[in-house]
Amino acid sequence: MIIINILHIGIDDTDSPDGMCTTYLASQIINKFEDNGIKLVDYPRLIRLNPFARFKTRGNGGVGLKIPNDDNVELAKKIVLEEVEKLSMFDCDNTNPGVIFYDGEITKEMEDYAFRAIYEFITIDEAEEFGKSVGCEIHKFKKGRGIIGSIASISLPLSDFTFELLAYRAAENYGTKRQIDYESVYRMDKETFPDTFENIDYSEDYIAIEPKTPCPVLYGIRSNTVESLKKAKDIVQVSEPIVDWCIFKTNQHTDMHIQNASDISSMKQFGCYCVTGKVKNKPTVIDGGHMFFYIFDESGEIECGAYEPTKNFRKVVSHLCPGDIIKIYGGIGEHNTFNIEKFQVIKLNDIEYKNPICECGKRMTSAGKNKGFKCKKCGNKISSNKKVPIKVTRFLKNAQFYETPVSARRHLSKPLCRMSLH
Ligand code: ATP
Repeated sequence: MIIINILHIGIDDTDSPDGMCTTYLASQIINKFEDNGIKLVDYPRLIRLNPFARFKTRGNGGVGLKIPNDDNVELAKKIVLEEVEKLSMFDCDNTNPGVIFYDGEITKEMEDYAFRAIYEFITIDEAEEFGKSVGCEIHKFKKGRGIIGSIASISLPLSDFTFELLAYRAAENYGTKRQIDYESVYRMDKETFPDTFENIDYSEDYIAIEPKTPCPVLYGIRSNTVESLKKAKDIVQVSEPIVDWCIFKTNQHTDMHIQNASDISSMKQFGCYCVTGKVKNKPTVIDGGHMFFYIFDESGEIECGAYEPTKNFRKVVSHLCPGDIIKIYGGIGEHNTFNIEKFQVIKLNDIEYKNPICECGKRMTSAGKNKGFKCKKCGNKISSNKKVPIKVTRFLKNAQFYETPVSARRHLSKPLCRMSLH
């Protein structure tokens, strides 16, 4: 086996809410590489990091590229830096690009750093110090915050991964309505799901492959395999030019942001976890349509939320009852509420306590505090205050998972159609 020495290239924080996308910049770099005979090793990587990161534009994604570390590396570095200089949205205060070059094996401490960038917050200084300590060549533009994500994007091990095919628009069409034939998207979903996923939110009639921002992306299709992406691209019809397209290997939809919490009190704010607990109260809705309830275990309790954008998921959540044991997946946000991405029913409480049935067949009513029960039909009385357990039929099912709709799902959340894969 020939072992080639690799140059890793990390790029992040080049875009703004008004335009650009680091993946598009990467595709332009890849084109320039091709023009100069520089071939990528493996697919370009699109790595999603901490969903709670403060300065993210949208999905907190960074890009990693790998090329052979040969005579072309100086040219490759020049191309990367020139393209970042040319295409980044420097006018935006929050755009602070960072590029790193790293020549060698990804070490265990770099992998650990990458997981920290998913689970925790890292400062620019920390990233710089770490990058230097492992031998990264660091390029900061403006504040250079992008180096935080750049180092993570080359370092994250992809034990589970998916692919995304991104098709890009002609510059003159940026900001205009995307000309996608929605019927062809429905057809594509029918013919390629579950190899592709997150294409459409059927409950909302929402085309999820189409971004809603003025960025260069025309559509993005997510999948487990490259073959199904190519098939999907052939099916989706558009009536505007696709100037370029690129397939990225990603950690999207792998649940890599989720840490296993041993109990409720061990979870911290701005962390994403799965944890098992017992439902304390019936979920209630507040103004704005957000739904809340508590779960508890021996260590403590936490408020859980299914927010308005999760739409019909709230109907499912409303079926939870006190005493149900559930495993929840999600993140603890600003108000210290656990924002549920999905949950699994571990054990339903299917016993309800009701007034006893009278000998005449009618359910009895209370005869007053501590005075037992009486029958309104035949006048019969009993002195016992004990309600009787009754097995009830529940809408929810034991062992089943329930998830938020596609339109409200995080890039990193693993959809149920992938749950059995890893
Ligand atoms: P897009 O998805 O459109 O590419 P984005 O949401 O990825 O945009 P960026 O422009 O990449 O947003 O900005 C995210 C910023 O947050 C980057 O500077 C990145 O280095 C930084 N960042 C990433 N992870 C962390 C972290 N764990 N702690 C602190 N900063 C982080």
